[in-house]
Amino acid sequence: MSNTPVALVKCDSYEYEEVKRALDESLDLIDALDFVKPGMKIGIKANLVTGSAADKAITTHPVLLKRLCELLTKKGASVVIGDSPGGLYTPAFVQNIYKSCGLYELESSSVALNSDFSIKDGKFPEASSLKSFTYTGWLDDVDAIIGFSKLKTHAMMGMSCAVKNMFGCIPGTTKPEYHMRFPDEKAFANVMVDLNEFFKPALYIVDAIDGMEGNGPTAGEKRHIGAVLSSKRPYGLDMVCASMIGMGISDVQTLLVANERGLGPKDVSEVSILGNYGLDDARIPDFKRATIHQSITFEGGSAFNRIKSIAVKLAYSTKPLVKKDECIGCKKCHDTCPAKAITMVSSSGASKKGTGNIPQINRSKCIKCFCCQEFCPVGAMKVHYNPVGNMLNKMQR
Ligand code: SF4
Ligand code: SF4
Repeated sequence: MSNTPVALVKCDSYEYEEVKRALDESLDLIDALDFVKPGMKIGIKANLVTGSAADKAITTHPVLLKRLCELLTKKGASVVIGDSPGGLYTPAFVQNIYKSCGLYELESSSVALNSDFSIKDGKFPEASSLKSFTYTGWLDDVDAIIGFSKLKTHAMMGMSCAVKNMFGCIPGTTKPEYHMRFPDEKAFANVMVDLNEFFKPALYIVDAIDGMEGNGPTAGEKRHIGAVLSSKRPYGLDMVCASMIGMGISDVQTLLVANERGLGPKDVSEVSILGNYGLDDARIPDFKRATIHQSITFEGGSAFNRIKSIAVKLAYSTKPLVKKDECIGCKKCHDTCPAKAITMVSSSGASKKGTGNIPQINRSKCIKCFCCQEFCPVGAMKVHYNPVGNMLNKMQR
């Protein structure tokens, strides 16, 4: 397993001068841009999961993207910024996302927003989960990829950061199919790791200036974290990010499977962290999680340990639950649900601002992928713990 260094630099705000200082320092610490040569075309795979203003802390902040583009073009490269958000993967839909995320101001003669919406077939025989798949074709047209993610909680995977960001290489409308193909959390986490190993980005950067806690990755609350991180590999980087928000390998499935595959560390103590900003100073001890439903397994294969693991898993079991009075009846959860577990029904308790309809979930069909929670535009779909899990959750903090 490689011990690729992670640069951790304090960054207090999205003011351009502060971002410039912090990002430049972070990249210098690991000689991050050494691979960039004049004439190269660099693809920045940002997190543009949904159309949202930069200050909502859902998507990669445009000021950070702006500074990275400046550094790349100064080295003689051209840049394409892209992602496949949740929803349609069409020019009109994605261009609307670019607009909401404030990306058009980044365009120049050397910087473009992706306009190639082709879809390609990929084969990856060495993959654990994803031996064949479809992906966004624009990634074939660049010489190197930089993953630029945002540090947020994630209902299914525990955390959305460098590794999870690469799921945006799958076209939006195809993503639900992958949830159906790999409903088990571990298999799905392996999909994320497979994507990182297939595309092998040359560099990963994390926007952890303002992150998201609670009902992430789109409906939680903004939380100031105050850091920019970078590394040439994603697993140690995600381990450091997880540690900053109070998580470890057992809370983040992608870290767990990466370690099992010999790709990532078991603990943050194994990661070499560069920079003056110490991990202890960067930690946010009361950072609110989205869910810890898969967070504890007892090691060893004894029957007693298996029973303990099952009991804890049941205690922590979660499900999506709609807050009727916040639901506007937009049907996005219904249209996104890969298991077709949602029917829209009329309800007198629905938000007065909406259509009067709310989603009803068929629990026997639900695979707990939390896509409905991820893409609800008003945060009306919540992650619900059972009462025992809730109590254990509170005790743990
Ligand atoms: S109801 Fe929500 S969590 Fe369940 S399968 Fe559908 S989208 Fe996934
Ligand atoms: S729960 Fe959210 S996504 Fe679903 S209909 Fe209500 S507002 Fe729309």
